[in-house]
Formats: sequence, C-alpha cells, structure tokens
Amino acid sequence: MIPFVNLSAQYKAYKEEIDAAIFSVLESGTLIGGPEVQNFENILCKSTGVSEAISCASGTSALTLALAALGLEPGDEVIVPDFTFVATADAVALLGGIPRFADIGLDFLISPSSVEERISSKTVGIIAVDLFGQCANYKALQAIAQKHGLWILEDAAQSIGATQNGKGAGSLSTIAATSFYPTKPFGAYGDAGAILTSDKALAAQVRMYASHGRNPEDHYQTIGTNSRLDALQAAILNVKHAHFAEELLRRQKNAATYSALFSAIPGFEIPKISEGNTSIYAQYAVTCKDREAVLPKLSKANVPTRIYYNSPLSAEPCFARFEKTKEDARSNTNAYRLSKEVFCLPVDAFTDVQALAQTIKNVLLP
Ligand SMILES: *Cc1c(COP(=O)(O)O)cnc(C)c1O
Repeated sequence: MIPFVNLSAQYKAYKEEIDAAIFSVLESGTLIGGPEVQNFENILCKSTGVSEAISCASGTSALTLALAALGLEPGDEVIVPDFTFVATADAVALLGGIPRFADIGLDFLISPSSVEERISSKTVGIIAVDLFGQCANYKALQAIAQKHGLWILEDAAQSIGATQNGKGAGSLSTIAATSFYPTKPFGAYGDAGAILTSDKALAAQVRMYASHGRNPEDHYQTIGTNSRLDALQAAILNVKHAHFAEELLRRQKNAATYSALFSAIPGFEIPKISEGNTSIYAQYAVTCKDREAVLPKLSKANVPTRIYYNSPLSAEPCFARFEKTKEDARSNTNAYRLSKEVFCLPVDAFTDVQALAQTIKNVLLP
C-alpha cells in the first residue's frame, strides 16, 4: 500500500543524522529547552522573517496561546474561515470566545468580503488560515482589520516555507501560530508548534501564558498553562530543516505534475495559486463535482486519497451552541460546495508522483 505521507522513506533518507541528533540529546541530559530548542527558534526567525519565535507543545496550543496573548475575553467574537481544520475555531471557543464563520474563495482561502460581512460590535479579530500551503489575502484582510480596529492572527500550520510577495508565511500579520505535527510539510516525530511575531510585548505575553503565567519577576501573574517543545523534537526538526528547501522543490514539482494531468481531464479543477504567492502544497487539493464516483475508482487502483475537509466547521455539532453559527452558514456557499467536491493526493517529496499520475491517467482517461 502506498502511504499518504511517506514518513518512513523520509526517515530512511536522514536516518544517520536523525539518530545522531536523538542520541546526542539523550546523552546531554537536557530534555526540555536547552540549545536544540534555542537553535530551532533561531532557525524559525531566520527562515520566516520574524524577530521572535516561541516554540510550544502543538499548533492548537500555539493558536490558544496567541489568542490569550492578544487579550481575547469571553464573549469576544473572532472571525475564522468556515473551511479549515477544527483547531482554528476550537482555540477561540476554548478561551470563551465566539467563532464567526466566514466563507472561502475558490482558492480555499478566507474571503475578505465575507469577513467584512461578519463584523459586529463584539468582533475583536480575524484568524486567517494559509490553507493547503498558500498564504491568505493579507493585503485585503489588513485593510479591513485597520478600518475596524481588529487584529489578525495568521494560522500558518500549513504554510511554513511559503511566501507572499517575497515575505515568509508566519510574518504576514501581527502574530502567527504554526504546527510541526508529523504529517505537516515540516514536521516533527510527535506534537510540536510555535508562535511567531515581531512584537516583543506580545512575545512576552505568549511566553508568560506558556509558562504557567509566570512573569519576569518570577511571580504567577495570570493563570497560564504548560506548553513547551522538548529537546528531542527540536533536534529532529533542526536536522529536517537542513533538507526542507530541497524537499519543498520536490513537493512543488510533484504538484506541477498533478496540475498538468488534471488540467487535461474534463471535470477537474486544479489549485488556484494567487499572484505573488508561492505554495508549499501542504495538501495537493483537486476539485471534482463527481468526487463520490471518482474516489472508489482511485482507491481500487491503489491511489491513496484523503478528504480535507468533509464538512464546513459551521456544520459541526460542537459549534451549534453559538447563536450566529446557523446564520453564518447560510451564506457560506463555497465552503459547503467545496467540502463535497475537494479531495487530496499524496504530494510529499518521497512519493513517486510520476507513477501515481500515470495510474490516475489510466483510470480516469481510459
Ligand atoms: C494542523 C493544524 C492545526 C493544529 O495543529 P496541531 O499541531 O495538530 O495541534 C491548526 N490549524 C491548521 C490549519 C492545521 O492544519
């Protein structure tokens, strides 16, 4: 069986370096924090273009810490895209906030005009998600945020390594949260995440919340939590980072192979990458009205597929308790349609996409 993300092949390719890094951490006795974690945070700053990187336990935790640092209060409304991983909206609700669901465009990214329609007197901010590896439309979002006095939190869990007009994902708004979950394009061997910002005061707030609310005077100023990256994960990420640029080129080449193929098959839409953007193709997502008929055929031919996401968040039971969810859902026509038409194909650097593309061609163009 062909894996959807070939992490075993990746490990085999870097095994010597990764094993050495792991054993060196074990021998050092420094298992939380320490030089590997510091080194990793430095790498994140340098590669994304921010001045502060705070590593933490996961992407979900990074989103929650960023929202806490931004001062989210119970009852505050935060506008999120209706088509994303559940964590984006969960983090808002976990702190007592109210997620408001905006529609997406045909590029799968949060629609600025829909964001504007969701603004109320309770709105404090926007979470923009760089879905499937491409940055959201920050120029339009910044204009809206400025006009209404809102902050923007960039959910860069799927976009580390992407750029927009030459600027790195993670540096496109006041603060960003990202994830190094193993199957992300830049992933650890367990849970890991980070918050990125160039605002020193905000970074200090994040560090406080991530460390039990402890202030620089060593007192517990607020209720915080424990969210930190362990040295083993940092060491693994440091090794993988050295290979990441090369992997990205292979991912992009794989995506181009699929795009050439699906452009030639009637009924399929390839991903739309906006001008000024480079995508890291965290997912290669195709749109097809006939998805329910196509997927079984691909499965029979041993082509792995995944559906991200099979439902807009506004249709999930956990968000039904918010009064405005139903109302938001009514106008999110793209999110509802695309959740029934999108599917994803393996695109990582260790998958033979040439071979998969040939199989797909044989199946869909007999
Ligand atoms: C993966 C992901 C997260 C959550 O990251 P975890 O590390 O799994 O907690 C949040 N938002 C988006 C868009 C993601 O893809």
